[in-house]
Amino acid sequence: MNRKRVLITGAAGFLGSHLCDKFIAEDYHVLAMDNLITGDLKNIEHLFQLEQFEFYHHDVTKFVHVAGDLDYILHFASPASPIDYLKIPIQTLKVGSLGTHNLLGLAKEKNARILIASTSEVYGDPLVHPQTEEYYGNVNTIGPRGVYDEAKRFQESITMAYHRFHGLETRIVRIFNTYGPRMRLNDGRVIPAFIGQALRGEDLTIFGDGSQTRSFCFVSDQIEGIYKLLLSDYVEPVNIGNPYEITIKDFAEEIIKLTGTSQKVIYQDLPKDDPMQRQPDISRAKEVLGWEPLVNRQEGMKITYNYFKSLSPKELTKKAH
Ligand code: NAD
Ligand code: UDP
Repeated sequence: MNRKRVLITGAAGFLGSHLCDKFIAEDYHVLAMDNLITGDLKNIEHLFQLEQFEFYHHDVTKFVHVAGDLDYILHFASPASPIDYLKIPIQTLKVGSLGTHNLLGLAKEKNARILIASTSEVYGDPLVHPQTEEYYGNVNTIGPRGVYDEAKRFQESITMAYHRFHGLETRIVRIFNTYGPRMRLNDGRVIPAFIGQALRGEDLTIFGDGSQTRSFCFVSDQIEGIYKLLLSDYVEPVNIGNPYEITIKDFAEEIIKLTGTSQKVIYQDLPKDDPMQRQPDISRAKEVLGWEPLVNRQEGMKITYNYFKSLSPKELTKKAH
């Protein structure tokens, strides 16, 4: 059987593992690559027995080589949670810059189409609301979050340069906060943080006064958007996210209701450069991909809560690395 071949980096992570499932379901041959710095093999171990699945334990900031043809590359390797990228800032810069360069080189060698995972963080603490793809952003280059934001901005620039200079087929997705099963309970992002606290009987920690907003997209919607973008003809960046915006304070209340915890909220300092508002304008995705999110937050959060509830007590108490 002559399956199309796709390389997915960051494959053992949250989004990467769901992408592996999607491409296996669509009958591709999947080459999965990860150095496991923030990911976990248990996210993809159910695929190991399949003959159309291969795993490579490799750091993509080092030269990347795979044997055989490639039709597509999806570059998702990168720490994505603020506590991860603050803990490993140099690796974060390297995977967005050197790692992306290596994968663009591989795409050129194999004549493959490459999609890179960018982020709403390219807009920084946005002065335009909601964020359209035309907005250039408001990023503090030298702040603690700069290691992630600037790596992703460089990633977009070098990707467009490969497109313009080498004629490479490239796609850029700007992912807005996405959640669902296989997020690490201890990754520090707000959904695992609040649910973990509720399950352990701890108070929910709101950073700042909780008036900052986010818009949360369920993972199945995100994966569908990425898949459609990869197969589209569209070269400019596309926002993929759910525009349904909520303050962190109201969200904490929603989680208290969902989990039935008798704990309360407590307030802690707002991390430096934490964006005050975030909401994707998804007009472009609707127009060029015919995509929009289908899973509402109530539905998505129920699925996510049930996933976290099913974890072992050991997982529940594991500290962030
Ligand atoms: P994750 O931490 O769960 O997954 C990232 C994976 O990349 C991990 O498995 C990690 O081990 C791997 N990795 C990191 N550096 C590597 C390297 N040098 N070589 C090989 N593998 C490496 O994070 P995620 O939420 O799945 O995010 C995946 C991608 O999507 C990232 O590029 C992230 O910037 C982007 N993104 C995610 C979100 C979100 O809400 N989840 C939002 C915006 C952008
Ligand atoms: N946040 C919070 N309590 C937590 C974790 C996060 O109030 O325990 C806040 C955080 O300051 C931010 C929002 O929730 O304003 C979303 O944080 P997350 O780390 O999930 O994503 P990002 O800031 O990258 O959007």
